Amino acid sequence: MHTAFLMGNEAIAMGALAAGVNLVCGYPGTPSTEVLETVAKNRGDSVYVEWSVNEKTAMEVAAGASYAGARALVTMKQMGLNVASDPLMCLEYIGVKGGLVVLVADDPGPISSQTEQDTRSFASFSKVPVFDPSSAQEAYDMMREAFAFSEEYHTPVFLRPTTRVSHGYASIRVLDAEEYEIHTPDGFVRDPARWVIFPRFSFASHRRIEERNTALSDVLSDYAPNRIEPGDPACRKGIATGGISWTYVMEAREKLGKCRVLKVATPFPFPEKKAVEFLSGLDEVLCVEELDPVIERALIYVCGKYGLSIRILGKQTGHIPLSGENTRDSVAAAAAAFLDLPLPAVSESTPPPLPVRPPVLCAGCPHRASFYAVKQAMKGRKTIFCGDIGCYTLGNAMPLDMVDTCLCMGAGLGIAQGIRHLEADRTCFAFVGDSTFFASALPGVVNAVYNQAEFTLVVLDNSTTAMTGHQPHPGTGRTMMGEVVEKVSIENVLRGIGVTEVVTVDPLDHARAVEAVRGIADLPGVKAVIFRSPCIALSKPQGCLSVDAAKCIGCKKCIREIGCPALSISGGKAVIDPAQCTGCGLCAQLCPVHAMEVSSRA
Ligand code: SF4
Ligand code: SF4
Repeated sequence: MHTAFLMGNEAIAMGALAAGVNLVCGYPGTPSTEVLETVAKNRGDSVYVEWSVNEKTAMEVAAGASYAGARALVTMKQMGLNVASDPLMCLEYIGVKGGLVVLVADDPGPISSQTEQDTRSFASFSKVPVFDPSSAQEAYDMMREAFAFSEEYHTPVFLRPTTRVSHGYASIRVLDAEEYEIHTPDGFVRDPARWVIFPRFSFASHRRIEERNTALSDVLSDYAPNRIEPGDPACRKGIATGGISWTYVMEAREKLGKCRVLKVATPFPFPEKKAVEFLSGLDEVLCVEELDPVIERALIYVCGKYGLSIRILGKQTGHIPLSGENTRDSVAAAAAAFLDLPLPAVSESTPPPLPVRPPVLCAGCPHRASFYAVKQAMKGRKTIFCGDIGCYTLGNAMPLDMVDTCLCMGAGLGIAQGIRHLEADRTCFAFVGDSTFFASALPGVVNAVYNQAEFTLVVLDNSTTAMTGHQPHPGTGRTMMGEVVEKVSIENVLRGIGVTEVVTVDPLDHARAVEAVRGIADLPGVKAVIFRSPCIALSKPQGCLSVDAAKCIGCKKCIREIGCPALSISGGKAVIDPAQCTGCGLCAQLCPVHAMEVSSRA
């Protein structure tokens, strides 16, 4: 055993390795991504790791490994759980053999997500037990416990950190490599009665799961992290909390006096007996949690079930905000108001406000050139540009203003089809990135071709999964295990599905890019433009440009039309920040007086 300074996600990964995990797969998504990456960096030869094409596939790969007796970890963020939910819901009915932990990192805020959904609520919906760590140390310990729990009760198990647990750093106690468990899978044993899901079996499974979870409520009441911090016996008020909010409550409690506190580490199945013990002798309880009022509702239920006359306060009574993150200060304020105490003084100095930085595509990003080409080609036409999830969602920012809709990964294709069915005079485009293309766009293309839809698919291929940190995908030609493999060709896939008109063009060649869009947009049926140019984080800059002030007429066209953050105006002339410019050359191609010139070569 030694001490290591780890990010929460690193702690989770190291916990999985210490538990003898055999297979890890997932799909990247903030705030979960570093878990799989840390496993990949630290794994031994016996651990298989992959970025799967999407979360559903990852869940199925993990299920297969578990059927063969392996310990398997599958990682994703809360949005990804929606994609993985189909196999997961069925897997809970089938059960597992080797331990299977589903790491879902929730994003209160939300800081980098479309929704604020709560995996604790998904746990009760899917009937899958959930462990909710409040610190990096607890996340490390819980990962090891979750594998053992999964095997003992033959169920997949959620481990659900939130952003501040996943991305916070702490010194924690971890096992030395020699102390790791060694888990040797015994292989798949053919047994259709166990591994083939049928309605008849599912009826029995449902009953078994409900009975098991009722029993687990008692088992989990004795699980050490579900605990009561004793308080002043004269205080008839208590606080119930869990996850990162527990840490905030304990910090506030040091300053606000010692009321009793219930820590809920397994929100589902809820540790009912532990809750009854906590509630005994109290008049009022404040529930402090993020996202859904899971603990609050559970305590109201417990009070009703056991005939306890206790006022339960929290999100539903307006004492805790209904959405967004809790903070140390917001929790201290809520606790002070609840306990009728003055707000403790904040001793630390308040940091100065940060400058406002609106999200924008990077200087030199090829997506800027792609959007600009489509915009120029379609000028004056009645169009709709259906966007998708990735860096390129930032194509919505002015002055590009090229994202009319964005729902969830892969949805742009379906939305373009739906709108075109209703508006025959509208020219429809659907933009999708290369990683999203493989993850969730393919069924949309099949649907469009077979049902004779009319739209142009624009694949923005920058040869990586850029937004989450440059993970490989089937179009990149390398795997997470480091192997170089044959790329899956987007062109061949599209042609194989039946898209006959497919053109590939470099978006940074502006004239050709515009011509390609004009040439294809009015063709009947489904057609595709693939804009291929690597992400600037992958390719070496081509040098940088500067503006010849003698030539520049100060028309600002370069700034007004593409919004590259390297461009600004000074003294009535355009200037280029050499620290940001990658030399992509897009601005030079639209300047009416050719004022841009190469100023340096990298
Ligand atoms: S060449 Fe122009 S558009 Fe490209 S990064 Fe430099 S300033 Fe921006
Ligand atoms: S487009 Fe050319 S002339 Fe106009 S401001 Fe930019 S650099 Fe100057």
